Order: sequence, then structure tokens, then C-alpha cells
Amino acid sequence: MDNSDLQDLGLTRQREVVLHVIRESLGHLTANEVFSRAKQLLPSISFATVYNSLRFLKGAGHITEIQFGNGASRFDRLTSRHDHALCIKCGALVDIEMEHPQELVNQAAAYSKFKPESLEFTLRGICPDCAR
Ligand SMILES: [Zn+2]
Ligand SMILES: [Zn+2]
Repeated sequence: MDNSDLQDLGLTRQREVVLHVIRESLGHLTANEVFSRAKQLLPSISFATVYNSLRFLKGAGHITEIQFGNGASRFDRLTSRHDHALCIKCGALVDIEMEHPQELVNQAAAYSKFKPESLEFTLRGICPDCAR
């Protein structure tokens, strides 16, 4: 595995592996999924270590944690603002990177009388795999 871009971060080997797993994944893994992939790279790693590494990496701003409804938290390699599409059949969660129309922000702000800071949306629907 290529960790050249991770080596400068001064992370422990375990944290490096956890970050590598999240950055390699295009999806948004749960802690359990991160654990099973990390174990393939570092068989001695424990779930507690993975869990603590996730906490640390989140606190350090290397990853973000997202949650939908009462499902398990998922970990996201994108730390900048972005939106998601969620498949209601299989739970696939896909990143959407696009600008919001200012008109939408203005309408939401006017309706709530809030001073707007940010807006996120989730597109719920059927993913291409499930639609087949
Ligand atoms: Zn699906
Ligand atoms: Zn995302």
C-alpha cells in the first residue's frame, strides 16, 4: 500500500491504516466496515484501536462523521462541505459536490427567519445498481 502522502501527518501506524482505508473507499464506511478492512492490512489491529483512531482522526479534521436517522455513523474522506445521495434500498451513500442555488438558500432563510450559514441536502432514491 502506498502511504507516501500519509507519512507527513505524524500518525501512528494504526491511525495511518485507518485513514488509508477511509481514503481508499469511495463509499462511506461504518466503524465495523473500517475495522474489517483495516484488519486485512494490519491483522493485529483491534476494534477498540480502530474506534479510537476514528475519534482521533475526526478530531484532527482528517475525516468527518455523518449520520442519517438512527443508522450507524459513517466516516467520510471528504472534509469540505458536500451533499449526499442515499439509496433507500441498499443504503449506498454517494458524494455530491455541487453549488447550491443562492435562491434556495434565500428561500430557506426567509422561511425560517434564520441568518444562513450553510445548507446541506440529501437526495434519497434508488441507486443505479438497485435500479437495474
Ligand atoms: Zn442501492
Ligand atoms: Zn460524503
